[in-house]
Amino acid sequence: IRTIGILGGGQLGRMLSVAASRLGLRCHIYEPGASPAGDVAHVVTNAPYEDHAALRAFAESVDVVTFEFENVPAEALDLIESIVEVRPNRRALTVSQDRLTEKTFLNDLGLRTAPFADVPDEVALAGAISKIGTPSILKTRRLGYDGKGQVRIDSPDRAEWTGAPSVLEGFVDFSAEISVIVARAADGQVAAFDPGLNVHQGGILQTTTVPCGLPARVTTDAVLLAGRIVQALDYIGVMGVELFFTADGLIINEIAPRVHNSGHWTQAGCTVDQFEQHIRAVAGLPLGDGSRYAEVVMENLIGDDLERVPALLRETGVQVHLYGKGEARPGRKMGHINRIVP
Ligand code: ATP
Ligand code: MG
Ligand code: MG
Repeated sequence: IRTIGILGGGQLGRMLSVAASRLGLRCHIYEPGASPAGDVAHVVTNAPYEDHAALRAFAESVDVVTFEFENVPAEALDLIESIVEVRPNRRALTVSQDRLTEKTFLNDLGLRTAPFADVPDEVALAGAISKIGTPSILKTRRLGYDGKGQVRIDSPDRAEWTGAPSVLEGFVDFSAEISVIVARAADGQVAAFDPGLNVHQGGILQTTTVPCGLPARVTTDAVLLAGRIVQALDYIGVMGVELFFTADGLIINEIAPRVHNSGHWTQAGCTVDQFEQHIRAVAGLPLGDGSRYAEVVMENLIGDDLERVPALLRETGVQVHLYGKGEARPGRKMGHINRIVP
């Protein structure tokens, strides 16, 4: 494998491209919109997913296709898959594109999620609330990220509708949120990075801290459970598994079939980071050494946080990553820092 096609040209695609170049590989990015990854990839196609000629040319120019974005339309994938292999596979993508299929898949594997109910339309909401109770969170089945498309419901008579087919989830009383960044190679080898502690504000990840501070029996459990998920999906690549830690154990919040924001600390804490691990997996190479050799706090730079960059650049033990995005809108992820804890 010499050239990797990446669907999606955001910051994740950008960091994947950097990792690929380091291994002597080339990347071809396919991105309908503005592309921070376009600055660093070898080739960029800027065309919509409906442009089948462009998609075909893209697929024909690469040896394998991966993605940094899980909402690639099914028809686009059909076309690509008729030409070149997509890693991770179609099932992993389909399962995680829809919160309902995702939670059902996890429960079928014997893994715990928050209690949930299918809410296909607004009429079904009242029934779902009587089943799940309040407080609960209504989430659109598809296309949500950074807490978008979610409504918290505190009482049955004050329930807003999300406007699209949704799932209603019971509110989980967690004491911590952690995530496992797990990788599976083409030959079935599985490795996981140390679980990180995640702090969200308004649905957006603010910080990830490693080590996460939970006992080894919990972090081991988390890693084993992530291993079961990638195994069950015959997965190739890196996956992010978000979990809630509660008084009665671990509950899975969601899975992301790609490199994950909560894995950015690996850039400063490991010999081989999540981006290289993913590239190795999809390129059919052996997984690298992802053991953690430092304590790290990753902090996202969101919107105006960009103003802190001049000062951050002067700090000791701080690695600054900027995505080269134009405008710093509120809630927009502009970069992140990895701070090594002395
Ligand atoms: P991401 O950007 O991680 O894909 P998302 O839009 O898919 O985000 P979720 O991960 O579902 O959103 O939720 C965002 C955050 O909201 C969670 O990390 C958690 O802090 C909180 N949250 C979500 N679901 C629940 C729940 N059932 N109970 C309690 N808190 C929740
Ligand atoms: Mg999500
Ligand atoms: Mg999430």
